Amino acid sequence: MEKKQFQAESKRLLEMMINSIYSNKEVFLRELISNSSDAIDKIYYKTLTDDNLTFDQDNYYIKVGADKENRTLTIKDTGIGMTKEELENNLGIIAKSGTLAFKKETEIKDGHDIIGQFGVGFYAAFMVADVVTVISKALDSDQAFKWQSEGTEGYTIEPHEKADVGTEITLKIKENTEDESYDEFLEEYRLKEIIKKYSDFIRYPIKMDITEKRPKDDNEEELVDHTEEQTINSMVPIWRKNKTELTDEDYENFYTEKRYGFDKPLQHMHIQVDGTIRFHALLFIPENIPFDYYSKEYEKGLELYSNGVLIMDKCADLLPDYFSFVKGLVDSEDLSLNISREMLQQDRQLKLISKNISKKIKNELKKLLKNDREKYEKFFDAFGRQLKFGVYNDFGANKDMLQDLLLFYSSKEEKNVTLDEYVSNMPEDQKYIYYATGESIDRIEKLPQTELVKDKGYEILYFTDEVDEFAIKMMRTYSEKEFKSVSSGDLGIESDDDKKETESEEIENKELLDKMKEILAGKVKDVKVSNRLKSHPVCLSADGEVSIEMEKVLNQMPD
Ligand code: ADP
Ligand code: MG
Repeated sequence: MEKKQFQAESKRLLEMMINSIYSNKEVFLRELISNSSDAIDKIYYKTLTDDNLTFDQDNYYIKVGADKENRTLTIKDTGIGMTKEELENNLGIIAKSGTLAFKKETEIKDGHDIIGQFGVGFYAAFMVADVVTVISKALDSDQAFKWQSEGTEGYTIEPHEKADVGTEITLKIKENTEDESYDEFLEEYRLKEIIKKYSDFIRYPIKMDITEKRPKDDNEEELVDHTEEQTINSMVPIWRKNKTELTDEDYENFYTEKRYGFDKPLQHMHIQVDGTIRFHALLFIPENIPFDYYSKEYEKGLELYSNGVLIMDKCADLLPDYFSFVKGLVDSEDLSLNISREMLQQDRQLKLISKNISKKIKNELKKLLKNDREKYEKFFDAFGRQLKFGVYNDFGANKDMLQDLLLFYSSKEEKNVTLDEYVSNMPEDQKYIYYATGESIDRIEKLPQTELVKDKGYEILYFTDEVDEFAIKMMRTYSEKEFKSVSSGDLGIESDDDKKETESEEIENKELLDKMKEILAGKVKDVKVSNRLKSHPVCLSADGEVSIEMEKVLNQMPD
């Protein structure tokens, strides 16, 4: 028998988790059941795609059983099982992908975060158990193994007898302490309750032997124990249920269970389409920006199911980049199980689904913007940049999709407005949509160039995000109105008289201007008389289409 130490990092994390004030200990069961379900998904998928394996519905289940006398709780599944290596690699090391290094210890505030971020689902067992034993036999393997651990001290691993492929996890439930009771995790009714609460939609039966008092046949007065195997979960995946049967809490639980995020969803969309293409989708907009969202590590995509069987974890083709923050899944009857990644990209059905989904997300956001402005602003704070990148990246091709979802700060309203709101507020004589760029609203407020436009009673949009100006350059117009920077050469405001006056001043002061140009040679292209200044003596202005702010960004870009 080999005894191995957990890696140092795992040990620290494990200790932290076990000792953390994790208020919801019951979720350990959800974690173990969802692992079992994943494992059955894997073997189920194999049988469906491998002609040498046959599939029998009855062979796939999860069984939960408690033994009060021995204080053990067992979760058994008929999933794909684990080899010795897999037992060691999957259960012995937490920070598989180096996520631990990513988030510093100090940033971890409570147990919720840990479980959510590191995928330490299995370790949750140690919240309620002193000893965890995993006996597993992998598909395609003759030898089963037993993995055992008492928590932070490491684990042992040795060969073991097991007839069928699958995994059996036994928890030695902790003794009660003065403050904590663990007895509930050995009570049938409690276990049943927890399963119903968190794992009802699991697609495989979760069975328990339930003992009830029943009248004895020949004597109706006398009650005797009667034990019967029952399936606890309803097995209908949540996305196939009727919306009217579901509460917000159901959706939130699902979001947590699926680890879409460790926040709550800001909005969910439950989509059922039954036309030329048929599919169900359950989509979520997170409340917070995922911690890796604006990094290279972030992978967009939705889970893809073919008639209830998971075929891909993250199908990127289902989401355009500008909606990459959306989490969730798609289940379609019309997709073949054997489809490969390359074929998937070409798949017509998938393209149709993807298009349909994008439209639905857009409409949902539009609805939110109209009906719950506060919530929408919260959404836009988190993901608005992504929408602007969407307008910019596809050379304006997405503009119809996205332009009405954009918000910009307005000089007049002193809050965010949509382009539609801007245009509807324009006085009749205003020809352009004016904008000003700068680092912050405060900085833009102080720009001399804004004065004249404001004086005319025109509203100015303040662009504080680098991408803002790039995006509207791609759009060119909104509602047939061109965008115009307040620092561009011709503001379209000056009257003919104004222009004449400027010209004559220009001639009168030629000597002075030439002298200034000489002194500033190489720094500015030209020095001109301006009629757009009120309380400031001078301002910088851009010549042509590229504003000063854009030029700064362009100069920072690698060639
Ligand atoms: P996650 O489920 O997020 O990957 P877990 O800590 O819950 O993280 O599980 C770690 C890994 O251990 C799983 O990815 C899986 O490979 C393996 N595993 C856990 N439980 C089982 C099981 N019942 N059958 C097969 N493999 C399992
Ligand atoms: Mg898990």
